[in-house]
Amino acid sequence: MKTIHVNASTRYDILIGSGLLASAGEYIKNAVGTCTVVIVSDDNVYPIYGDSLKHELESSGFKVLEYVFPHGEKSKNLSVYGDLLEFMCENRVTRKDAIAALGGGVTGDLAGFAAATYQRGIRFVQIPTTLLAAVDSSVGGKTAVDLKSGKNQAGAFHQPSLVICDTDTLKTLPEDEFSCGCAEVIKYAVLGDEAFFERLMEKDIHDQIEDVIATCVSMKRDIVEEDEFDTGKRMLLNLGHTFGHAAEACAGFGILHGQGVAMGMTAMARSAHAAGFCDEATVEKITAILKKYKLPTEIPYRLEDMVNAAFSDKKMAGSTMRIIVPERIGKCSIMSIPAEELRVWMERGGIK
Ligand code: ADP
Ligand code: ZN
Repeated sequence: MKTIHVNASTRYDILIGSGLLASAGEYIKNAVGTCTVVIVSDDNVYPIYGDSLKHELESSGFKVLEYVFPHGEKSKNLSVYGDLLEFMCENRVTRKDAIAALGGGVTGDLAGFAAATYQRGIRFVQIPTTLLAAVDSSVGGKTAVDLKSGKNQAGAFHQPSLVICDTDTLKTLPEDEFSCGCAEVIKYAVLGDEAFFERLMEKDIHDQIEDVIATCVSMKRDIVEEDEFDTGKRMLLNLGHTFGHAAEACAGFGILHGQGVAMGMTAMARSAHAAGFCDEATVEKITAILKKYKLPTEIPYRLEDMVNAAFSDKKMAGSTMRIIVPERIGKCSIMSIPAEELRVWMERGGIK
């Protein structure tokens, strides 16, 4: 097992390893004491891991409630969120109690936002069961639900009390969901760690899963500790995301987030090369590693649609926007550009 300590506004640990769920009660008791725990999970994940987690917590002295919602991003809305809060109220959950989010990014965001706001904030434990959630959404304390007008439009920063990442749970994850997480893993390598990039090239992520998650989580921890509220360095984590979100929107959210990020990273690397910020070898390496993990490297959507989609993204601050530009493997920089220039960046990246 690997333990990563985080010193954000709350201090907490991220535990990563095989078989951790079997001792979840002990870990959670150390983090929040004995109380009522509301397990929040979706209808794919709860049937696989819910009951054993529930029994494990009960045998450690917790009172356990479970709230199971239909899987998928569509559930990350105000109605499910409201229903969860009412459920907790009806069951007399108090400020001393806690939520355990058992699932992927959707579960973490929804349960986290409920924890952030229920009676002005209760503690919560993240138990990520997707690679994406393990390396990304379970670190950093961002919680949110979607509004009709856009993704993650209502949310809060709320740090967990503990993150338990049992790598065994990834074995039941559908393959495309796994490779979607790989896109974020590759993002970390491109952002800040060339040696890690080489390790991902040489050896499959499956075969070094504990190390991979620990490396990504440590990098994200370092960035989040410096910039908890996302006003500076944390923007680096958006590598591939400006174009990626636009691609997701163009696909009517019919592609996975990681696929969008993979497309976005390649287009941005091509564009950076065309503008003289990085060499061709960098573009080739990024393309090669994404292909190795069965991720798309071409954006099949029209330039016009991509530009429109990017302009409705919330990260467009005023008339300038920030993009993350690769300089070489292991080094990227944040650049401010006038919003009108985004089209040029997209065009140079090969979007037609
Ligand atoms: P994210 O990719 O943001 O983590 P979700 O929370 O929606 O997104 O999870 C992706 C999908 O995978 C959902 O349908 C979810 O029910 C399913 N899922 C999550 N974890 C597992 C798992 N360990 N085994 C099987 N299916 C899972
Ligand atoms: Zn992402």
